[in-house]
Amino acid sequence: MVGRAVRLRCPWCGARRTFVRRWLWRDERCRTCGIRWNREVGFELGPMTLNIIATFLVLVVAMTVVVAATLPDIPVHTTVIVLVAGAVVLPVLLYPFGYTLWLAGDLAAHPPSTDELADAAAHAGNT
Ligand SMILES: [Zn+2]
Repeated sequence: MVGRAVRLRCPWCGARRTFVRRWLWRDERCRTCGIRWNREVGFELGPMTLNIIATFLVLVVAMTVVVAATLPDIPVHTTVIVLVAGAVVLPVLLYPFGYTLWLAGDLAAHPPSTDELADAAAHAGNT
């Protein structure tokens, strides 16, 4: 399921027609199998947390590499500008991956119940 999520496919059915319709907009359900991405109240906190952690990791690694490579004359001004730009751009780039990855983890930890699968089947391919 993680492999599917990394390729922005539905973690459950593997289809490309998933809830990620456009980069920053989502449908409520996978457009192929009908599984809901928002499986419980507060589900969005998981993808947001993944996004924040990934962004900070990339920024910390980039800053460490720049500092280590340029010691003792660190280009502070340029480094800060690039890192601030990265702090704005990276969350946008990582946005859909956070949702698919979090859903993959959630589906692996809590497989859908028969009621959830019946609800998904009722909405499969509707949009
Ligand atoms: Zn699906």
